[in-house]
Amino acid sequence: MKRKGILVVVSGFSGAGKGTLMKKMIQDYDNYALSVSMTTRSPREGEENGREYFFVSKEEFEEKIRQDGLVEYASYCDHYYGTPKEYVETQLAAGKDVILEIEIQGALKIKEKFQTALLLFVMPPTAAELKRRLVGRGTETEEVIAKRLRRAGEEAQGMEHYDYIVINDDLDECTKELHSMICAAHHTPRRSGELMENMKRELDQLVKGEK
Ligand code: 5GP
Repeated sequence: MKRKGILVVVSGFSGAGKGTLMKKMIQDYDNYALSVSMTTRSPREGEENGREYFFVSKEEFEEKIRQDGLVEYASYCDHYYGTPKEYVETQLAAGKDVILEIEIQGALKIKEKFQTALLLFVMPPTAAELKRRLVGRGTETEEVIAKRLRRAGEEAQGMEHYDYIVINDDLDECTKELHSMICAAHHTPRRSGELMENMKRELDQLVKGEK
């Protein structure tokens, strides 16, 4: 039976190191596809259109919403962020697990829409470390950092909705942990519907002497 891909939502406070983690997941394992989101925020230094994000205007984003071209979208710190539909559908159909690195409002929409989605929340080891990483990144103004820390406090309230909480202290360790959680998730009854149905049918046929 062909392996079915699942949606893997990865959330975490801004500065938790999700971006680096996701790049490593893609490098180390070949069953993952990373969705590239669309956003109305400006590119940071070193970011490329089509690689980190598709950077678009507010008008273009709203047009995409009207065309029903997004799996989910949300507003975060004054900007729109959304997941384009086409890539997700193609990759899932090809059997890949599609990683969506998105914030909590989007994560909850995915949970509602896709019963088999797995929700992972990445945390830094401490709150002080989070601030250190945000400041150390050097890409945001003090005001933006303060806004993101306030937002982290709000998002912390929603961590209970996730399936697993992962601490990103050591990159290699954390990558392995995420991978093993995703592998295990594939074997839960919720995500093995077809396998279970096939077995029940075959057993039924055996008992009736049809095979
Ligand atoms: P950043 O501006 O730091 O790249 O991203 C800000 C937040 O938006 C992060 O929490 C990131 O996970 C989230 N985000 C990125 N893409 C999407 C998306 O397509 N949908 C939603 N809902 N959130 C996203």
